[in-house]
Amino acid sequence: MARSVRFVTAQNELVERLQAGIRTGDRASLARGITLVESRNPADVPAAEALLRALLPHTGRAARIGITGAPGVGKSTLIETLGMRLCDAGHTVAVLAVDPSSAVTGGSILGDKTRMTGLSRHPRAFIRPSPGGDTLGGVAARTREALLLCEAAGFDTVLVETIGTGQSEVAVHGMVDFFLLLLSPAAGDELQGIKRGVMELADGILVHKADGDLAAAADRAAQQCMLALRVLHAGEAEPPPVVVGSSVTGRGLGELWQAIEQWLAARRADGRLAHRRAQQAGEWLEQTVRERLLADFLADPHTGAAMAEARAKVAAGVELPTAAARSVLARRHR
Ligand code: GDP
Repeated sequence: MARSVRFVTAQNELVERLQAGIRTGDRASLARGITLVESRNPADVPAAEALLRALLPHTGRAARIGITGAPGVGKSTLIETLGMRLCDAGHTVAVLAVDPSSAVTGGSILGDKTRMTGLSRHPRAFIRPSPGGDTLGGVAARTREALLLCEAAGFDTVLVETIGTGQSEVAVHGMVDFFLLLLSPAAGDELQGIKRGVMELADGILVHKADGDLAAAADRAAQQCMLALRVLHAGEAEPPPVVVGSSVTGRGLGELWQAIEQWLAARRADGRLAHRRAQQAGEWLEQTVRERLLADFLADPHTGAAMAEARAKVAAGVELPTAAARSVLARRHR
């Protein structure tokens, strides 16, 4: 008893300390806070929730921007260049990542320290590699929470990077205000191959690497993107912006940021942004309920035996999968 009281007191003190540190923008407290909310140790859950709840009133003020695109299209180079420009212009920038491969391999798209070298040293920037996790859902949930902590620490811009695998893009789209898709100048050919769903999610497109020999191809690709977006967004007042740019020469980056700011300002003014965030919070809730239900069900000792029995019957062709599924679910908590 005394021991658990001591534990609770220590946890409360930790939450108090982290909360105060994060509110003053202290990087070490922010990093520790993110580690706490990323923890998969059940003993850390109450402290993580207490910290998030305490900081919730101080969240919501950043521009939340998702950045996606195939590996090699130049996401981290763009984040480095754009991030440095924003910091130099007085912004404070946090960079997070949702990397589905890290959920499997433990690797990380932001883990490579040779990337974003300038930004990682900039006093107005904070870079956090992707959390490890068992499922994309878990990784995405922890990135959402890390985003809230960055906002509470006062960052006015949060960039969330993800690589182009449909599922992680949906997850990041579900946590940002503006979802930017990077395409390479070969996008003309690529457009056929790119998942239509990803184009549909994009709030804007940057045709990247528009420099040197690739500049003319980039302009052509941008035209094709505009046509494709006009079809996808037929009936809407304004199709998503398409910008041609280069992180090497800096071409188009000012225009890109201006387009994003205008887009956000218009939606802040007429309530569409608040509506989008409210919807995202609702989806986050529903997703969490679904994940917890599934986890509870799979942790139920009856489930394993019932599943094994059902699997054998289905494999032998003596039971329909639908009927077997019904009997597995019916045996829960018996
Ligand atoms: P990521 O995998 O999408 O994060 O791509 P990287 O940022 O690591 O960039 C992949 C390669 O493209 C690197 O060799 C970069 O130097 C190069 N690259 C990035 N941005 C540009 C650009 O604007 N123009 C050109 N020509 N190359 C670029």
